[in-house]
Amino acid sequence: MTKEENIEFLKTVPISFYAVDEAHCISEWGHDFRPEYRRIRPIINEIGSRPVIALTATATPKVQHDIQKNLGMQNAEVFKSSFNRTNLYYEVRPKTKNIDKDIIKYIKNNEGKSGIIYCLSRKKVEELAEMLRVNEINALAYHAGMDSVTRSENQDAFLLEKVDVIVATIAFGMGIDKPDVRFVIHYDIPKSLEGYYQETGRAGRDGGEGQCITFYANKDLQKLEKFMQGKPIAEQEIGKQLLIETASYAESSVCRRKTLLHYFGEEYKHDSCANCDNCLNHKNQVEAKDELCAVIETIIALKVKFKADHVIDVMIGKKTNNIKSYRQDELEVFGCAENSDERKLNAVIRQAIIAGYIDRDIENYGLLKVTCSGQNFLKGPKSFKIVEDNEFNDDDEEVIVKSGGACAVDPTLFSILKDLRKKIAKKLELPPYVIFQDPSLEAMATTYPISMEELQNITGVGAGKAKRYGEEFLKVIKTHVEENEIERPEDLRVRSVANKSKMKISIIQGIDRKIALDELAASKGLEFGEILDEIEAIVYSGTKINIDYFIEEIMDEDHQYDIFEYFKESESDDIEEAISELGRDYTEEEIRLVRIKFMSELAN
Ligand SMILES: [Zn+2]
Repeated sequence: MTKEENIEFLKTVPISFYAVDEAHCISEWGHDFRPEYRRIRPIINEIGSRPVIALTATATPKVQHDIQKNLGMQNAEVFKSSFNRTNLYYEVRPKTKNIDKDIIKYIKNNEGKSGIIYCLSRKKVEELAEMLRVNEINALAYHAGMDSVTRSENQDAFLLEKVDVIVATIAFGMGIDKPDVRFVIHYDIPKSLEGYYQETGRAGRDGGEGQCITFYANKDLQKLEKFMQGKPIAEQEIGKQLLIETASYAESSVCRRKTLLHYFGEEYKHDSCANCDNCLNHKNQVEAKDELCAVIETIIALKVKFKADHVIDVMIGKKTNNIKSYRQDELEVFGCAENSDERKLNAVIRQAIIAGYIDRDIENYGLLKVTCSGQNFLKGPKSFKIVEDNEFNDDDEEVIVKSGGACAVDPTLFSILKDLRKKIAKKLELPPYVIFQDPSLEAMATTYPISMEELQNITGVGAGKAKRYGEEFLKVIKTHVEENEIERPEDLRVRSVANKSKMKISIIQGIDRKIALDELAASKGLEFGEILDEIEAIVYSGTKINIDYFIEEIMDEDHQYDIFEYFKESESDDIEEAISELGRDYTEEEIRLVRIKFMSELAN
């Protein structure tokens, strides 16, 4: 539309009215500001004045104001429907080292449901999708860096319910209207609450269940703030304000729905929505009448020129350089709440804003001011109860139950399992190591899996292997646990690709795309022997891969057959032994390739 010839053309056709869609893009306070939107009004004036309608699904009061101002329609009639999506459940969880495990558990508890997981980076999208697949979750990736064919294939697979879960950057979802998305998980906190509202809004469009789970760590926000450096200062300041709003939302113990609706200028009148984590895990309220009075007094003493963090510094008596330069350490309010802590004061300020006693001046980068009802509160203080903010400690890391540690192995169970393996191997006429390798038996004798799901999570046991051989092992383990009244480590171990290096992931992806292994090695800067090392490690840890396309291309069929048969009969999978048994006709590389095929087909 900004093109001169388009404007010329539009002047020649009769226009009945102008509709501006995604109108929030006109405001630099929207999460999606586009400077060209600012030219809409002048262009309309040039083409010829007609009625204008502006439409958006996310706009805070500030953004609504900007839309009207910039389009020159201050007197326009505003039609607003509620932002409240009553069927959506909101929850914020601490993001710990165990986030992958938390997500896997969540999805396994919601099997068969459609869900979207949002990550901020393309790299994380790829890694997480791979991690989910390794754990038998039907997931695909989606981000703008993928080629357009794969991208639309993955999108279709999700829409047609060939996959349950799509791991994506925010590029996913624009214009997608799948009514029965049952969960939206934020792996990383969004940059703004508008973004959060829009992305969570893709859950439960049919009015049915829609769970919105966000994993939050404050250090993620610090990272986002760093990314903004280098942008114009005004833009950085706006970005920071949006991040502060997001942090308040995440850390607050107030009803999520109430906070969110307040952000969009809507008052939620109920005390509890009964459909968010904070309402369901009701926290004790504490009296904060005195603190609120102190906050209001301090804001007034600072002549309404400072932001929340500065106000708090003054209240707790912190002699920062800033405070000293304004000589605010000489004020009476300096240190007026020295027995309180930052977290509580932060909660007081946030909740006083929601209650309408304090206001944040958005035009002026979040300076705090006192409203009329704040003034009245100071004249006649009454009870003001708050819920303290949730604690999100970044270092809060669960201890993972170790498996496979030699010291923890139950020797009796280990030998029972070995006997069982021998028996099964004999019956099937397969070498015992094909059933399960020793490290897997050791892990079983350490973590005592008693369900198929737990068994699958043991290193070296895939879904296929668990199904094929698992039942008898589970029976034996269960009996052993019951007879000896063993307390099992409750937490199950999730197979991870975290200890699989990035290299391994990209090798798996290369093999999925049927890239010749020598080419794949060269592209990774590896020798051929080195890539075989990597592939062996992948297969031996229980991941099934198919390199038939490559073997068939480079190997004689008879050789394949002979080596395969050798491993079927052999007592061990040792490579040296195989070389000396098979003789000089077969190269080491051939033997290793077929061994990979063999392990992958029979063992995984
Ligand atoms: Zn609630």
